[in-house]
Amino acid sequence: MEQPVKRFFHDWLDPLLRVIYPELCEVCGRTLVPGEQLLCTHCYQAMPRLNLYDKPFNDIHHRLLSTNSHIDRAAALFAYHRADEYAAIILTMKYHSRPDIGRKLGVIMANEAQSHQFFSGIDLLLPVPMHWWKQMRRGYNQSEEIARGISKVTGIPVAHNLKAAPKRGTQTHRSAKMRWENTKGIYSVRKPVKLSGKHVLLIDDVITTGSTLLHCSEALTKAVPDITVSVLTAAATHLN
Ligand SMILES: [Zn+2]
Repeated sequence: MEQPVKRFFHDWLDPLLRVIYPELCEVCGRTLVPGEQLLCTHCYQAMPRLNLYDKPFNDIHHRLLSTNSHIDRAAALFAYHRADEYAAIILTMKYHSRPDIGRKLGVIMANEAQSHQFFSGIDLLLPVPMHWWKQMRRGYNQSEEIARGISKVTGIPVAHNLKAAPKRGTQTHRSAKMRWENTKGIYSVRKPVKLSGKHVLLIDDVITTGSTLLHCSEALTKAVPDITVSVLTAAATHLN
């Protein structure tokens, strides 16, 4: 964008739009002040962070144990409880036509993970894909929006080598076994040769049992034996 145009947006249009359509904190609903994004300062600081970046074999790794693939690094930003006020970030992003939440969340995730050197050596960001029909109905894939936010901060490109066939029903409220069966064999890899020797970071919104991410990781390892796979999600549920 040309400098005068950029300055016009920054100095005049942004503040004006903030008066007409104030940005609200996605957790408490308070009006955000300049400098705040997605959450007010209080909710940002009080977020139930998991701080897993420096733990080499953490709870996320445990959920992704497999003899068919290996997860190098794994982390999630915050703990997800369906009844908790912070769940609103995920639910609004997914079900209320708010892809912007995904991008802002990606920026927060990237800034925090980057301070722990979490992205060191990562070549590509791979969002967990949605079946094209489901994505068309929603209008976006929230994991891809999160990846875009991460890419904005880190400069790591977003790739689309994973492809999803339709799931057999929704994942919500399903048991671990049902979730496993539901996502088995639905992910495939496009142009695997482009991923040879690369370290990819799988991006998803929430990890629950881990079946989705594990099936993605297994599909990648099967198609590209010399790939390295790491995982970063916005949130992680407590299983018990
Ligand atoms: Zn707030």
